[in-house]
Amino acid sequence: MKLLVVGGAGYIGSHTVRQLRRAGHEAVVFDNLSSGHAQAVPDGVTLVRGDLLNPADIRAALDAHQPDAVIHFAALIEVGESMRAPGRYYRNNVTGSLNLLQAIVDTRKIPLVFSSTAAVYGTTDAVPIPENAAMQPESVYGETKLMTERMIHAFHVAHGLPYTILRYFNVCGAAPEGDIGEAHPNKTHLIELACLTALGQREKMMVFGTDYPTPDGSCIRDYVHVQDLADAHVLAVEALHAAHARGQAGQATYNVGLGHGFSVLEVLDAVDRVTGTPLHREVAPRRAGDPPRLVADATRIVRDLGFTPQFTDLDEIVRTAWNWHRTHPDGFRR
Ligand code: UDP
Repeated sequence: MKLLVVGGAGYIGSHTVRQLRRAGHEAVVFDNLSSGHAQAVPDGVTLVRGDLLNPADIRAALDAHQPDAVIHFAALIEVGESMRAPGRYYRNNVTGSLNLLQAIVDTRKIPLVFSSTAAVYGTTDAVPIPENAAMQPESVYGETKLMTERMIHAFHVAHGLPYTILRYFNVCGAAPEGDIGEAHPNKTHLIELACLTALGQREKMMVFGTDYPTPDGSCIRDYVHVQDLADAHVLAVEALHAAHARGQAGQATYNVGLGHGFSVLEVLDAVDRVTGTPLHREVAPRRAGDPPRLVADATRIVRDLGFTPQFTDLDEIVRTAWNWHRTHPDGFRR
């Protein structure tokens, strides 16, 4: 199969390109490189520099490369920034996705796999969270993802667009080979920050709240390894494409997580074990908008697609992240 990977130069996109090729597929990357890295695109993979906000760019890429399916990662992803710059987020994430959808149905009506997020649920009482939980995003970021999910469904109903939506929980880790990994311009994620702190780039780790109603008082999250998440995309696009070849316009939405969580303090303990140096920690007030516990009910993707995460051991997950950051302290700049 030939895939157009929109946002394929980013963190999750680049790992997905690698897993697609390992599964025998061909990938073409479409990326505006606003936060992605050309160095994350492997030799032999075409990188089309284009922007979803220019409809002509995406139409030209679909025409030129004639893909069998599209995987769409391209988005701005920072919750805090989305609250300060909502216009940028709605324009980039919603209008950009709309341009992509319109281009797909106008040209080839091929299957689409979309990157969504557990942020569409907002604070929920459900633990673990099933896909049919109430959706009340608490950030503009989550709102843009939910709006895009709804647009995709409307295009499915109106135009027969086949789709699979994957709602990621806490994506982390790096390729075990240590050559690609997380390199966002602004660092906010727990494991990445802890690794950079262990490298001496920051003085200490702030623990945002130890007074939550959890066993050790810190927040619990479901940490899914980026390579397992990449494999989930391969499974999703293969299933969608097979159904499409049988004349079916499939539609499905899946959580992607391990189905169990680790607390902030457990993650920091793992980082201490892996790096061999205890981090300087400081308890700080709760971070606004952090629910105490976010854990996926991942039974649907296991049942339907045979998703089998390989990285279930926290130390192993952290070791891959540490290996990447240790060897690339400035990300793709070295
Ligand atoms: N966190 C923390 N200190 C940090 C960064 C994150 O205590 O420097 C906590 C954060 O409050 C949350 C968890 O770690 O409870 C995971 O946060 P992250 O930003 O990695 O992902 P999120 O759950 O927001 O998607």
